[in-house]
Amino acid sequence: MSEANRGARGGVPPQAAPSGLRERFEAAFMPNYGVPPLALARGQGCRVWDTGGREYLDLIAGIAVSSLGHAHPALVEAVSSQVAALAHTSNLYLHEGEVLLAERLLELLGGDGRVFFANSGTEANECALKLALKYGKANGRSYVVAAENGFHGRTMGALSVTGKTSIREPFGPFGVDVRFVPYGDADALKAAVDEKCAAVFLEPTQGEAGVVPPPAGYFTAVREICDATGALFVADEIQSGIGRTGTWFAFQHEESAKPDVLTLAKGLGGGLPIGACVAFGPHGALFAKGDHGSTFGGNPVAVAAALAVLTTIEKDGLLANAVKVGDVLAAGIESAGHPLLAGVRGRGLWRAAVLTGPHAAAAEVAARDAGFLVNAVAPVALRLAPPLVLTEEQARSFTDALPAILDAAAPEEGG
Ligand SMILES: *Cc1c(COP(=O)(O)O)cnc(C)c1O
Repeated sequence: MSEANRGARGGVPPQAAPSGLRERFEAAFMPNYGVPPLALARGQGCRVWDTGGREYLDLIAGIAVSSLGHAHPALVEAVSSQVAALAHTSNLYLHEGEVLLAERLLELLGGDGRVFFANSGTEANECALKLALKYGKANGRSYVVAAENGFHGRTMGALSVTGKTSIREPFGPFGVDVRFVPYGDADALKAAVDEKCAAVFLEPTQGEAGVVPPPAGYFTAVREICDATGALFVADEIQSGIGRTGTWFAFQHEESAKPDVLTLAKGLGGGLPIGACVAFGPHGALFAKGDHGSTFGGNPVAVAAALAVLTTIEKDGLLANAVKVGDVLAAGIESAGHPLLAGVRGRGLWRAAVLTGPHAAAAEVAARDAGFLVNAVAPVALRLAPPLVLTEEQARSFTDALPAILDAAAPEEGG
């Protein structure tokens, strides 16, 4: 970060975009998004620049997506050479990359499974839900269980298992019988799941709810409940997977918590759109020919990006980096000792700075003014999901600036 940008807090207008770009955005797009405060022009590593040339440390990585940071040479090379060779095949023809990627994912997941490639997280979950419904129909299982406040995507199937009522309710009722239980409560789950349940959809840590981890042992209990009743355990690792928590997949933090179905997206493509649904054992063969498909799924360019992401994470030791730098980040937040800070949640490079009151939106603005991109994921939680290449020094630059950021966020309550 340049000196000029440090401490420039307060003096920068929120819309550093070419004249009128935000207004044009607002006029041209459906109003489902708020108008974003910044127009970004380029990135390098963990840094991005807006169209006005101002530099930021990117601690959100496009919502846990840009796992290798921006313009990583391995990603640039993989994508550029693939697009020059063959950009698209459709599912009418196979290509070597998709086979390599599926095999590599299965290897990381301990073998014995089958993969479907989609283009996004919500589509990965559509595949998982169709698998669950097919499994249910074949076995007299009529409903699905998911968690309150959970997030699984915006398309109608994934939305039906999304527990956040504000985004689900306007579009219901849905064609799927979905029952919601409090997240992290194994007893409530046990009471809700019987032999008529087709599947349980859960995030290993609830991302959009504010990086909320369950109590230790929860996923092991989920596995036991599903084993006892025959319900499929579907782990949505779209945000938590691909190294974000310091292991390849978050379920791997609990030894005996392997799901039956796993969904991935976000960090898998390092910025290129790709999603995956992996089903283990016999569940990998649930679909018959024609049951599901995607024109773009397994697209050679997105696949090349994902292969580069997996290779680079391994070659550069980014799982270990996520643990080490994640701990630095968490310790720095803990010790910032600001009256607005209630604590820190999460694991690896996936954290929430928890605030004592609904100051996250103001803190996000103050952080941006100070040159840091973070996300007010909930009124009281600031989400950090930086590239896995973040350095200790970069983590410290943020935690050093945090007290002043929080002072600026709520001047009347801080200090
Ligand atoms: C982001 C996310 C999704 C949806 O992914 P999209 O690519 O936006 O469709 C689903 N589940 C979880 C846990 C997510 O974080």
